[in-house]
Amino acid sequence: SSGFDDNDVVVIGGGPGGYVAAIKAAQLGLKTTCIEKRGALGGTCLNVGCIPSKALLHSSHMYHEAQHSFASHGVKFSSLEVDLPAMMAQKDKAVSNLTRGIEGLFKKNKVNYVKGYGKLISPSEVSVDTIDGGNTVVKGKNIIIATGSDVKSLPGITIDEKRIVSSTGALALSEIPKKLVVIGAGYIGLEMGSVWGRLGSEITVVEFAPDIVPTMDGEVRKQFQRSLEKQGMKFMLRTKVVGVDTSGNGVKLTLEPAAGGEQTTLEADVVLVSAGRTPFTAGLGLDKLGIETDKAGRILVNERFATNVDCVYAIGDVIPGPMLAHKAEEDGVACVEFLAGKTGHVDYDKVPGVVYTHPEVASVGKTEEQVKESGVDYRVGKFPFLANSRAKAIDDAEGVVKILAEKETDKILGVHIMAPNAGELIHEAVLALQYDAASEDIARVCHAHPTMSEALKEAAMATYDKPIHI
Ligand code: FAD
Repeated sequence: SSGFDDNDVVVIGGGPGGYVAAIKAAQLGLKTTCIEKRGALGGTCLNVGCIPSKALLHSSHMYHEAQHSFASHGVKFSSLEVDLPAMMAQKDKAVSNLTRGIEGLFKKNKVNYVKGYGKLISPSEVSVDTIDGGNTVVKGKNIIIATGSDVKSLPGITIDEKRIVSSTGALALSEIPKKLVVIGAGYIGLEMGSVWGRLGSEITVVEFAPDIVPTMDGEVRKQFQRSLEKQGMKFMLRTKVVGVDTSGNGVKLTLEPAAGGEQTTLEADVVLVSAGRTPFTAGLGLDKLGIETDKAGRILVNERFATNVDCVYAIGDVIPGPMLAHKAEEDGVACVEFLAGKTGHVDYDKVPGVVYTHPEVASVGKTEEQVKESGVDYRVGKFPFLANSRAKAIDDAEGVVKILAEKETDKILGVHIMAPNAGELIHEAVLALQYDAASEDIARVCHAHPTMSEALKEAAMATYDKPIHI
């Protein structure tokens, strides 16, 4: 026995879903054990996702600013170079500090931490092959599956993490590739393309669909794509990769129009496959217990995060819903609140989405396309950052706020922001949406001057009246 026999909750997976669920469960007085196979907490997000990507986005942005913006602000220097190992070390330091921080939080909250690969052997027992080569069985009244997701590969393409990389390899390249081809124009591809593009790579993004980031509001997307193109990113939309040749030095891709037609070739030093992520349940023992999944392999749960097997729950990337760290965290909290006899709730329609390029694009609620489809009469309030004093003061004024509000009631339906710090600005809109606010409610809140947030206030004025500054 592991000494972990009388848990109230056993969490499999230590990502943002799992570790947050474990901490919250312990805070609610439940005896909790968390099992994680990678030897570090924080999951995909902290180790090979959100955090290292944001570290590199920031570092590469500083370099890009130094190259392209400092002089106009009167800041001069005589030479500038990229020290890639130092940049990677800074990223690694951020990751290791944060993962150790979570271990500290586990200790503080008395969450037991078992390092190893968990497998369900019954609805109350998890067999763990521990990292040190042993095996132990962890028992608990309730089990939460929080095993997350993994990189999705494409048929006929083998990821070697050197020349053909996933996002994980793209976060750790040892040289700046001259030509980087990104397959898939989702947010991960665009973020990693931005990193290497700023450091000097020539970036071509190949996308099967007619649009980049399909979930984005169409009008904002158009502006966003233009902005990325101005930064040097090339897009080949409605295009599929039909062949990959790695016999030479680099990689030679054979492309074909999505609808069929003449083939072309495209050469690259490195190819990033960022065509989505897939739920990770390998070796978990779902079949043996008869836990239901959908066609995509996601574990099916009800509104209490319960699977079809009693006392087994699932949260985060491994269940349906937006595959985002903050959504996984919300799932984790709500799930254990139910277990502790309280009520939890996650509204997936109000989960913000952010693309951390420059400018960033953040949104919450419905796109204009979705509002149209719903048949509701609506108004649009827009305000460009070109008319925002703070954005002009710092000479970083590319972007817009767009608010969609119901015509009859002025109730906010969706908010879309393209701005340098859109990911921070969006939360005022998330709060407003959560409280069923009218656009006028935002407009009548006093916003500090000069801030980028004022653009949100002005866009809000524009849904029912006129903005002041344009
Ligand atoms: P995960 O984070 O995948 O964690 C699951 C954990 O379970 C893993 O550590 C895994 O090792 C462990 N595990 C799996 N099976 C077992 C087992 N049988 N036994 C023991 N342990 C197991 N999201 C955002 O919100 N913002 C971002 O900026 C962002 N950027 C991203 C950038 C990249 C490059 C990538 C790849 C993803 C990004 N994401 C981002 C998505 C985010 O990482 C995921 O949505 C989030 O990590 C999901 O959390 P999770 O806890 O469900 O799963």
